[in-house]
Amino acid sequence: MVRQSLWGDSVVVMNYGGRTDVSTVDWSGKAVCVIFFRGCQMRCVYCHNYHLLEGKNLVDVSEIISYLSLAKNFVSGVVFCGGEPTLQKEPLLEISRAAKHMGLGVGLNTNGLRWQVINEMVEKGLLDFISLDVKAPLSKPELYGRICYSDERKCDVEKIRKALDIISNVKEAEVRTTIFTNLLTPEDIRLIADDIKNTSAVYVLQEGMSVKGRFEYRSPTPSEMMEYADAALDVLDRVVVRGREGEKIVGRKRV
Ligand code: SF4
Repeated sequence: MVRQSLWGDSVVVMNYGGRTDVSTVDWSGKAVCVIFFRGCQMRCVYCHNYHLLEGKNLVDVSEIISYLSLAKNFVSGVVFCGGEPTLQKEPLLEISRAAKHMGLGVGLNTNGLRWQVINEMVEKGLLDFISLDVKAPLSKPELYGRICYSDERKCDVEKIRKALDIISNVKEAEVRTTIFTNLLTPEDIRLIADDIKNTSAVYVLQEGMSVKGRFEYRSPTPSEMMEYADAALDVLDRVVVRGREGEKIVGRKRV
């Protein structure tokens, strides 16, 4: 988004959703700050950031860049999160360029629908880490739609497929699926593992957590999480299981 300043210059602004100064969970092995972009084209049934899906809080990107120039003293990277950052291409690219210029790593959490923006970031050398949500098997666009739009619309899974085609060009890539036992079955996870098997991404199974009074889908128990992991391991050599007890890498049992 671009607006005119009082002096007639063009100023890039972002619809800003807030920030976390230091996070050690948004980019494995790194301390990063997290910048939240407001607005998203999805309405996932289990969205934890629903307060960021709408509304306007326009901030000049130079304020974010000034913040990063201080933050670089205590973090090694910045992760863009939301909402959906790729809906705001100009501020996303401008802040990413500035962050790279300062020597910070740049990470992106995305739902993948605007794969063209991801591609542009990759081609411009602006992306060091990507975390792509794959919310359901790509062979089940109706199920995908029920999860990501909370209604009967089908998801255009071809766009997610395009995003998957790109992520192997990013130095560090993960694909993430959030699991509630009454939304996805272990067989669905095996199908997603098949969808992503030709990428270089690490597959992360994330324990879904209910928000009381808002959505109360069934969170998996630790042993159920391992059943989902086993289903992915029919296809992949290893998966990461992430939940309230932390994160562990699970490998395929060799016989
Ligand atoms: S894509 Fe992410 S931010 Fe958008 S609705 Fe889904 S969970 Fe929320």
